[in-house]
Amino acid sequence: QVAARAEHLVKAYGAGAAAVRALDDVTVEFYAGEFTAIMGPSGSGKSTLMHCMAALDQPTEGRILLGDTELGRLNDNRLTALRRDQIGFVFQSFNLVPTLTAQENILLPLSIAGRSPDPEWFDTVIDTVDLRPRLKHRPSELSGGQQQRVACARALVSKPEIVFADEPTGNLDSTSGAEVLGFLRRSVDDFGQTIVMVTHDPVAASYTDRVIFLTDGQVRDELRSPTAESV
Ligand code: ADP
Ligand code: ADP
Repeated sequence: QVAARAEHLVKAYGAGAAAVRALDDVTVEFYAGEFTAIMGPSGSGKSTLMHCMAALDQPTEGRILLGDTELGRLNDNRLTALRRDQIGFVFQSFNLVPTLTAQENILLPLSIAGRSPDPEWFDTVIDTVDLRPRLKHRPSELSGGQQQRVACARALVSKPEIVFADEPTGNLDSTSGAEVLGFLRRSVDDFGQTIVMVTHDPVAASYTDRVIFLTDGQVRDELRSPTAESV
């Protein structure tokens, strides 16, 4: 089952001779309940692809479908609602609100939407990320790995259809990185979460089910059941 699909995506920056094609006819599918990595050299279009798929940026040409919904057909209000209700985000830099506790950060997107969490699901997420003793702490009182696990919990608590993670372990040491990757893996194995992660790190890729390789804005290869040695 396809959770998200890009068809013939082109993203061009600038015009004329100076134009850069960050994406140059990318067609790719992401399957429901799978953990997919996007890899490739710096400048190959990984972030651009992810930002387009996550409705944070618009392609110059081509179509994007999240489930049955074609993003290009939505007006701004519906795009905002889709980002809020159906997509989870995890960033390299955590993006937590420093004045709020871990629990308040995790619940912030729901609070803004005027919704309350499913208490059972909230408990499950907190236990899975192993944050129960840290819920009343502010980000400055947490390690990098704990902060990123707060960000992961925030991404999952609204039960999004798909989670996009942009270099989620890029700012973490390998032990903290492994905690975050282990959590993302468990959310796929235990809850059937669909995750798309941009990474440079072969060890991070080894946690995924499938790797898509980009070069110069094009899909060059893909690999199932990657290992740190094979990517
Ligand atoms: P990656 O994430 O693989 O490093 P990006 O998607 O960030 O690659 O960038 C792909 C290409 O698009 C690069 O050549 C980059 O310089 C260019 N690019 C990205 N964002 C912009 C922008 N806002 N304006 C102009 N060029 C951009
Ligand atoms: P647990 O909490 O079950 O002890 P971890 O948090 O270590 O497990 O890992 C969670 C999931 O990630 C496990 O299902 C495991 O298969 C997978 N995993 C753990 N380490 C690696 C690794 N180095 N490479 C790939 N997958 C791993």
